[in-house]
Amino acid sequence: MAGVPISRRAVLRFLGLGVAALGARGFPAIAGGDGGHVVVVGGGFGGATAARYIRRFDPSIRVTLVEPRARFYTCPFSNLYLAGLRSFDKLGHGYDALRRIHGVDVVPAWVEDVDTVARHVRLRDGSRLAYDRLLLSPGVDMDWQALEGYDAAASEHAPHAWKAGSQSHRLRRQLEAMDDGGVFILSAPANPYRCPPGPYERVSLIAHFLKRHKPRSKILLLDAKDGFSKQPLFMEGWQALYGGMIEWVGLSADGRVLRVDARRREVETEFGARHRAAVLNVVPPQKAGLIAHRAGVTDRSGWVPVKPETFESRQVDNVYVVGDATVAAPMPKSAFCANSQARMAAAAIVASLQNRAPPEPVWANTCYSLLAPEYGISVAGVYRLIDGEIAEVPNSGGISPLEAGSDFRAREARYAQRWYASICDDTWGPRG
Ligand SMILES: Cc1cc2nc3c(=O)[nH]c(=O)nc-3n(C[C@H](O)[C@H](O)[C@H](O)COP(=O)(O)OP(=O)(O)OC[C@H]3O[C@@H](n4cnc5c(N)ncnc54)[C@H](O)[C@@H]3O)c2cc1C
Repeated sequence: MAGVPISRRAVLRFLGLGVAALGARGFPAIAGGDGGHVVVVGGGFGGATAARYIRRFDPSIRVTLVEPRARFYTCPFSNLYLAGLRSFDKLGHGYDALRRIHGVDVVPAWVEDVDTVARHVRLRDGSRLAYDRLLLSPGVDMDWQALEGYDAAASEHAPHAWKAGSQSHRLRRQLEAMDDGGVFILSAPANPYRCPPGPYERVSLIAHFLKRHKPRSKILLLDAKDGFSKQPLFMEGWQALYGGMIEWVGLSADGRVLRVDARRREVETEFGARHRAAVLNVVPPQKAGLIAHRAGVTDRSGWVPVKPETFESRQVDNVYVVGDATVAAPMPKSAFCANSQARMAAAAIVASLQNRAPPEPVWANTCYSLLAPEYGISVAGVYRLIDGEIAEVPNSGGISPLEAGSDFRAREARYAQRWYASICDDTWGPRG
């Protein structure tokens, strides 16, 4: 593997110029530190975790993380922001610790394309980064073809807020401007999609906001499925906390939205019912982030099939994919799973660069949902390979009990806060 004179690389790093700068300035694209070169695309939960753990498992491997944003704003806890219970700033995390403490080259750029034969990625400015192994964690994109009338332009009027950023601000502003007595409608998609309990946590916390500030308002949750994560716990909590404010309409009761008129804030369901909202929040069907399609690792489902023992693509060698973009059921598309998959994929990548067999994988998930600031519920599970497939280990986790009492719910809400602090520290923080 070609090396770069250490002095030149050190100078570039000192100047804040990543390896991308080499290609951009006409040097040949390079691969390899002493232990090889891994390029990671996406600095969210999966990508940032993988970058740090590869460096931690083998510091002789050079890791370049490509992420266009200087700060990452998390979807976890963004529902608290919508409800006015957390500042947006407190959802943000930067890359300084990855850079300074963990020795990751962080390149602020967008990856346009991947050449999986020549093994390099092409950045938007045309420069190239060569890799020995590539890890993609691009998250999801909205599928703008899936729902009639709902595309990027429509989402300006009826936000999805399913990525934390300008969409979240738009939805928050609409909620603040909504008249007391208005109807908030959320349209939830069929599986699979990012964060299975997310829509239900969202209506809970919006109900908390409306109950305090616009108590005559209603929430209508139109759903393209007949059941959802932690359903009995959500239903119990909604009744206890918000009386009849939240109405859930499942698939069989005509809950599936087929058409959206975003300007009029109106939706039409499968059997022709029309509903008009004061604030309309459409969570559309989703697919793997664009770069996964460009890299040729997605299949007809729009998601990425992976070899479960390593999370290497089933379709393209030396390309690993973790997080929401993958087909990893029964693991949900959660930040916890993205982090857990990233650690295992990091270990598999290091093993493959060292010509060793990968370790036997084990993954975990805990998903907390807040129904109010002092009311939390959770579901947890441990996953292993059973007969070559990802499977939940029987009796490894479970779900919060029904009728548990307010102390129990308040304790789970505190655990949720600690979980958030700890996973963000493990992903972007200084913890070594
Ligand atoms: C409302 C809501 C609440 C949630 N709450 C929870 C929760 O409580 N607990 C939980 O575990 N999960 C939760 N989630 C799910 C969680 O947000 C995702 O599962 C997690 O973010 C997935 O991580 P990822 O790495 O796959 O994608 P992301 O974290 O989205 O990271 C993807 C990154 O890739 C970058 N990227 C994409 N394409 C490119 C490219 N071409 N070039 C360079 N960079 C690129 C993006 O800029 C982004 O930074 C929630 C989600 C939502 C919507």
